[in-house]
Amino acid sequence: MDKKVLRNLSYGVYVVTSKDDDRNVGCIANSIMQVTSNPMTVAVSINHDNYTNSCIKKSEKLAISILKEDSDAKIIGEFGFKTSRDTDKFENISYSMVDDLAVIDDSCGYLICEVIDKMETDIHTVFLAKITNADGYTTNNPMTYKYYHEKLKGTSPKNAPTYQEESKAEDVSEKKVQRWRCKVCGYIYEGEELPSDFICPICGQPASEFERMD
Ligand code: FE
Repeated sequence: MDKKVLRNLSYGVYVVTSKDDDRNVGCIANSIMQVTSNPMTVAVSINHDNYTNSCIKKSEKLAISILKEDSDAKIIGEFGFKTSRDTDKFENISYSMVDDLAVIDDSCGYLICEVIDKMETDIHTVFLAKITNADGYTTNNPMTYKYYHEKLKGTSPKNAPTYQEESKAEDVSEKKVQRWRCKVCGYIYEGEELPSDFICPICGQPASEFERMD
């Protein structure tokens, strides 16, 4: 079986937010789709290990901010590679409150949703959520997972439904170009040498948090 074929399915890059009592929580999701138009309903897949999952179950509310190609990659670093359990992911991110849920300003729109059903898989919960509000439309290109992977050289966090273990063979470059991988978010830097002052464009870690891939 060639799992790479799955990369040809289309995914976006979204920030899913919810409430932990009065606290805003959130994480990155790439598996979201509209499944019916009346009532307008989306399916949202969130890993059991994401703290946001338990908060959605408790509050039965979630918001989806649709990231765009030029959204600050720092948003993915904050929401995709940290946990809301003990971190305020919103501290350095510009957001607005809509119907008591936080939505990301640097996005191409948001959906406010109410959970109407859910299904458990071995590692993810698939929430069925009715859209109760939506706004912020822009003509900017929404970020697709393919764009994130190819242009931003981003990777899936291990919690993502689309995560695949990268094979060693795939990692090894046949050319003289070397690769270093960010130990926090998996971003891959390619070049002859990793500059000592390099900062990960996704999660902001310094060069010391990169490891050589061989
Ligand atoms: Fe990183």
